[in-house]
Amino acid sequence: MLAIRPNCEHCNKDLPNTSTEAMICSFECTYCKACAIEVFKNVCPSCTGNFVERPIRPSILIKKYPAATKRIFKPKDLEKTKVNSEEFKGILPEKR
Ligand SMILES: [Zn+2]
Ligand SMILES: [Zn+2]
Repeated sequence: MLAIRPNCEHCNKDLPNTSTEAMICSFECTYCKACAIEVFKNVCPSCTGNFVERPIRPSILIKKYPAATKRIFKPKDLEKTKVNSEEFKGILPEKR
């Protein structure tokens, strides 16, 4: 089950369950769309995997299975992530 983290790890933007801007990698590193696509070029700065849109948990189930509340805010070193992005952005996720 996804934790559904409450914010973007890089810019700290709120990403509630109902947000359509939340992007996650396979480890559920969570970023807003602007950071995931424009800043990191669809290369997760932690694991080099790709991002997909986080699904929205239906309202009736979010009560029973609530979203995480613990914020993870660890802005990335853009010099380092740029090297990462440049190396991996041209490689299809299934080939990384
Ligand atoms: Zn962000
Ligand atoms: Zn990741």
